[in-house]
Amino acid sequence: MIHINPYYANLKDSFLFYETKNRAAAFEAAHPEMRLLRLGIGDVTLPLAPVVIEALHRAVEEQAHRESFHGYMPELGMDFMKRAAAANYARRGVELEPEEIFICYGIGDDLGSVGSLFAQENRVAVVEPAYPAYVDTNVMAGREILPVPGNEENGFLPLPGPELDAELVYLCSPNNPTGAAYSRTQLQQWVDWANARGAVILFDAAYEAFITEPEVPHSIYELPGAKTCAIELFSLSKGAGFTGTRLGYTVVPKALVREGRSLQAMWVRNRSTCTNGVSYLLQRAGEAALTEEGLRQSRENLAIYRQNAKTLTAVLDRRSVRYFGGQNAPYIWFRCPGGMDSWSFFDWLMERAGIVGTPGVGFGACGEGWFRFSCFGRAEDTAEAAGRLEALL
Ligand code: PLP
Repeated sequence: MIHINPYYANLKDSFLFYETKNRAAAFEAAHPEMRLLRLGIGDVTLPLAPVVIEALHRAVEEQAHRESFHGYMPELGMDFMKRAAAANYARRGVELEPEEIFICYGIGDDLGSVGSLFAQENRVAVVEPAYPAYVDTNVMAGREILPVPGNEENGFLPLPGPELDAELVYLCSPNNPTGAAYSRTQLQQWVDWANARGAVILFDAAYEAFITEPEVPHSIYELPGAKTCAIELFSLSKGAGFTGTRLGYTVVPKALVREGRSLQAMWVRNRSTCTNGVSYLLQRAGEAALTEEGLRQSRENLAIYRQNAKTLTAVLDRRSVRYFGGQNAPYIWFRCPGGMDSWSFFDWLMERAGIVGTPGVGFGACGEGWFRFSCFGRAEDTAEAAGRLEALL
């Protein structure tokens, strides 16, 4: 008989969004008079930039004619898309070669496969609270997880100490769910730690476009030494509204060598075996999104999400609620009032104010007693939610 992967049995049920959705549905059924305002899910609500839509239309038209039709795409990405990604880095003073950039359908897909570069016996440090896939993909691979807890004292930006005995570390900055973002000096400590130990950092830059503070790096490669220790995962999902369109890229620098092997060469081998390239249409869309005009148009949407963040944090300021985020990320992470635990506050807020958020404990044990609001909602709903919240607190 076949033996199945035993490590799936170690996965915790993916409880968080399933449970919040169920509780909200039950509440709505019982209270049809109350309009629920949803500040829970980290999904965008505004449409793609007009230049992206035009690029998609043009690409569709190309596929309609024999002369311009495209079949399979190169597994590692089209040159035009790699050049667009490299130009995006060059704006920040980061030089990357096209062969170091691997076009993909988004971070979610590559998070699932990049672990195949590393042996099972590596210990994996995850800065928590964290996006759940960092833990789950490694649990599936049978790796040991070492949570690195964020808390109020370290501003949800824990730093490595000599006692951190891990070979792989997941960092997300600006962070989902806390919205906290490492400064250059803080991130440099992680880079130095990884180089000193021969560890590898997986740096998730999904929220890069939301950064407003100059001391927060947009890419880990802005820091000296990062190319010899870090893989960066980038997505157009949040910054350019591609959650349902799908496009991203993973950077594996040529300078990243472990046990005498180039991880870039290993990733070329992996991608040429495990993928058949990314849709031509989407790469044209991605190229358009990363032009100056595409970025400018997307920034108009980001300004609306940022305004949502201001509307919500103004209430928390007036009510003296401790919070993080909102400044460099579309998330606000705040302490549940009255010493409530995350799920009690979820129910209380929904029942009293008709607002649905996300319990912080769902992102790791150190998130207990905290709560996440997403700023991706419609501006009118966010303003109404802010009013209801202020009346309640
Ligand atoms: N990383 C983080 C931190 C996220 O919050 C998300 C989505 O919510 C992802 C990755 C997934 O991104 P993508 O849409 O590129 O798969």
